[in-house]
Amino acid sequence: MAAYEYDVIVVGGGHAGAEAAAAAARLGASTALLTTNLDTVAHMSCNPAIGGVAKGQIVREIDALGGLMGRAIDATGIQFRLLNRRKGPAMHGPRAQADKRAYQWEVRRLLEEQPGLALRQEVVTDLLVERHGGKERIAGVRVAGGAEYRARAVVLTTGTFLQAIMHTGESRVAGGRAGEGTTQGISAALQRLGFRLDRFKTGTPPRLHGKTIDFSRLEEQPGDEHPVPFSFLTERLEGDQLPCWITHTNEAVHELIRANLHRAPMYSGQIESRGPRYCPSIEDKVVRFADKSQHQLFLEPEGRRTCEYYVNGISTSLPRDVQDEMFRLIPGLEQAQIMRYGYAVEYDYAPPDQLWPTLETKRIEGLYFAGQLNGTTGYEEAAGQGLWAGANAALKLAGRPPLILERDQAYLGVLMDDLVTCGVDEPYRMFTSRAEFRLLLRHDNADRRLTPIAWKVGLVDAERRRRLETKAEQIAEWRRQLETTRVEGRTLAEWLRRTEIEWADLVRMAPELAEAPPEVAEQVRHDIKYEGYVARQQAEVERQRRLADKTIPPTFDYGGIRQLRFEAREKLERIRPLNLAQAARISGITPADIALLLAHLQAKSPR
Ligand SMILES: Cc1cc2nc3c(=O)[nH]c(=O)nc-3n(C[C@H](O)[C@H](O)[C@H](O)COP(=O)(O)OP(=O)(O)OC[C@H]3O[C@@H](n4cnc5c(N)ncnc54)[C@H](O)[C@@H]3O)c2cc1C
Repeated sequence: MAAYEYDVIVVGGGHAGAEAAAAAARLGASTALLTTNLDTVAHMSCNPAIGGVAKGQIVREIDALGGLMGRAIDATGIQFRLLNRRKGPAMHGPRAQADKRAYQWEVRRLLEEQPGLALRQEVVTDLLVERHGGKERIAGVRVAGGAEYRARAVVLTTGTFLQAIMHTGESRVAGGRAGEGTTQGISAALQRLGFRLDRFKTGTPPRLHGKTIDFSRLEEQPGDEHPVPFSFLTERLEGDQLPCWITHTNEAVHELIRANLHRAPMYSGQIESRGPRYCPSIEDKVVRFADKSQHQLFLEPEGRRTCEYYVNGISTSLPRDVQDEMFRLIPGLEQAQIMRYGYAVEYDYAPPDQLWPTLETKRIEGLYFAGQLNGTTGYEEAAGQGLWAGANAALKLAGRPPLILERDQAYLGVLMDDLVTCGVDEPYRMFTSRAEFRLLLRHDNADRRLTPIAWKVGLVDAERRRRLETKAEQIAEWRRQLETTRVEGRTLAEWLRRTEIEWADLVRMAPELAEAPPEVAEQVRHDIKYEGYVARQQAEVERQRRLADKTIPPTFDYGGIRQLRFEAREKLERIRPLNLAQAARISGITPADIALLLAHLQAKSPR
């Protein structure tokens, strides 16, 4: 049988796989992306949208690290909105509706243009592992038909496909996504290698034929008048924006759902695995929020060249006849034809406490997991993990230090740390509330935070660096201007520090400020206005860093600390934190446990 050889193999061409493959190749690793179907690369299994609050921040971070997602959505977005505009900048979240097909093809084009990356349509059926010096390490993968791909690193990003079952009412069909099959061999291979697997579920709403919707009865939601791009490389967004549309469920719909709950797989016992609590199906909403007489529905266009609409807010696995009947009762949708029925999917995931912070598995050297396989949900979370795992796989092979971003540096740092330190007990998605330093982690400053790091690692090109340097010079220049220009006895910077004063007020005082590019003015404004808060957050960051400096060897013998509580020892042995700060974040680990650990570490290596 043929054998192919690469440095890094990425299995799965979803959002995680695409970024993983691109990142590994950007770092010079010869890389192959193996995926079941090359026509479904970066397919959006659920909503045709990228970003949102906290997720938008992740997209901008991926972009600042040279990733694909921001550029792809800028090129193919059909509506752009900055969410939470009225709140402070830490809460702003860019979001865009995508032309779903165009998005996929744009990601694929970017992958095709990436030097050092081979794209192959293959179904991976098994993992090849070899023993070296008493330690198991990955050697490659086997694909359907028996061919082998050999590699020193494998990044597994199989999404919702492992032993997947789709449910609509009483019907059960094997498959990870409507119209596609399931992946059988990999779960068995992982279990054979000693990995724990568990089951999660997620769901998706029906899609409607736009020609059968009465838009005159719906409320229109346009995009922003001045849309903000995701990528720091995009100067202007081209093309008209399409509106989304709003309608609501009502008591009659809720009554219908209640009458059919016994046929809903989540309630009939047909599905036992946990789904995302924060993204409930309509049947869940009707049960959990029984006092609500209506729920909002957003109709989102699936693209420029199709009439298909995604109905955000009505994810369901109720039987087909109930789905049909529900729409008869919703204003504007009475005549609507369903093009695709909603369904729920159950799949295997690998609890992520089995991973090091680089997303390499603790059990098999050179094997990395990223994306939905780690128990997360969402394209952005998947893409971020993909970039992280792909980059780290390539860095390790090159004998270089890993790329680890801390919780105070990036939402990606928060995401990875939450996954590997705390594990997951329901599908994990990012929220701003998960980040303790969110004022530092704004979407608008992702380039200033991360591009210098990405440049050092080799993930971004000189053009990106040049742009950042130009921006940094402009920020410094305009800031100087604000600190030296006086109006009525105060500098403009002092004026701006006052709560009621905004940039527009400064422009009235000093009209030359109107010449500052908007993205530069925004940074100067935030830098000055939030200086005090940022300084306080920085002080806390320093405190945490001191704990993080106390490293714990990966092979540390917790059994040697006799006073350590059994529960603490069991958790520390399972997670194997790499420093005291990470140990302190493990749920159930107390300050007393940390004190013991610190004393023990100091006794072993007195400073
Ligand atoms: C029904 C449904 C509803 C969802 N609802 C939501 C939601 O409400 N909110 C939300 O944020 N997210 C939702 N998602 C999740 C979102 O689609 C995922 O989070 C995201 O796509 C995960 O990206 P990924 O790259 O990890 O995996 P995926 O996008 O699933 O990609 C996996 C890739 O691996 C390939 N693959 C699988 N097995 C093999 C193999 N053996 N060999 C080669 N290639 C293989 C597949 O073909 C696919 O290309 C939903 C997904 C589904 C299916």
